[in-house]
Amino acid sequence: MSDSNTDTSRLDWSKGNGLLPAIVQHWLSGEVLMLGYMNAEALAQTRSSSHVTFYSRSKQRLWTKGESSGHVLVLKSIRIDCDADTLLVQAEPHGPTCHLGTSSCFGDSAQVRPPLGFLAELDALVAQRHAERPDASYTTKLFDDGIRRIAQKVGEEGVETALAAVVQGDDELLGEAADLVFHLTVVLRARGLSLADVVRVLAERHSGG
Ligand SMILES: [Zn+2]
Repeated sequence: MSDSNTDTSRLDWSKGNGLLPAIVQHWLSGEVLMLGYMNAEALAQTRSSSHVTFYSRSKQRLWTKGESSGHVLVLKSIRIDCDADTLLVQAEPHGPTCHLGTSSCFGDSAQVRPPLGFLAELDALVAQRHAERPDASYTTKLFDDGIRRIAQKVGEEGVETALAAVVQGDDELLGEAADLVFHLTVVLRARGLSLADVVRVLAERHSGG
């Protein structure tokens, strides 16, 4: 399936003397991570290696993001804009994108990410806890207790959310709803699933009318 926004043969390299701006966006949270410039060779290398690679105007050579820090950007997709002179690169960052240590060159996640993008971060954090099982983590304890205990928590939080909706204030409802979303994320992960899988189902339902 190709559409005019993915057909890179349309790119107009002449406008920027062989360089085009490339906006890099977190593929799940939507956070804008950085802006760089690509020439045709950088674009080709990005696609062949799956590591986002730019043409560095200061170094005057190809520069693979993370080549020295290890904080690479793993390519997920590339789209081009209506005028075929700007790239939108969706990527999965490994480590902070900015050399100053923030997740984005435009600041910290909390400042840059769209509000609902935090759900992607929560999902990733729960997946990390599942894989690494750090001591003294409540999430680790849940995974160690097993699916029945986690499922029980989802049930309890669901009931508490329902009760809060009827008889408590907004703060209490929001608190219970947050507990529910957290435990829902954990129970999905315990089954090898993610919030992204749930969002896919919701989106399919929506597009199906
Ligand atoms: Zn930066």
